[in-house]
Amino acid sequence: MTHSTAHDSHHHAHDWAQLLRGRGLRATAQRMAVLEFLHDHPHSDAETVFQAIRPALPTVSLQAVHLIVQDLSGKGLIRRISLPDSASARYETRIEDNHHHIQCIHCGRIEDVDCVVGHAPCLEPDDTHGMRIIEASIVFRGICQDCDALINQQAKEKP
Ligand SMILES: [Zn+2]
Ligand SMILES: [Zn+2]
Repeated sequence: MTHSTAHDSHHHAHDWAQLLRGRGLRATAQRMAVLEFLHDHPHSDAETVFQAIRPALPTVSLQAVHLIVQDLSGKGLIRRISLPDSASARYETRIEDNHHHIQCIHCGRIEDVDCVVGHAPCLEPDDTHGMRIIEASIVFRGICQDCDALINQQAKEKP
């Protein structure tokens, strides 16, 4: 195990091996490829990751990618997010803050938005029913500019 203290938010490609070993995981080519892809394409699901890394790693399977994202989120190297308008779980490497997501209800596009307060939980219910609150899972839902333009265009084209 290495003595990694790297915690800057801009992880470069060569940092993945160190990060993995720092969490007691072997730095396999498949794990590093998953991390690298998610870093460049946040909010991807396992299927998307699988399709993207397969050309370079022909022996990888979808099942393996599911296990890898499970391991990586279990070790806190990636964050798993589930959104109301997405059938499958999404993953991202931006783990160091309590940011939220905004999603277009029309095309499903997902973007990061900073936490409205800055720490979790950023909302506390009046009645917690005795539960210790860990986070308020906030997803902003809207319609992106492209979809708005499309909707307006379609409305105009109607007789
Ligand atoms: Zn949209
Ligand atoms: Zn995000």
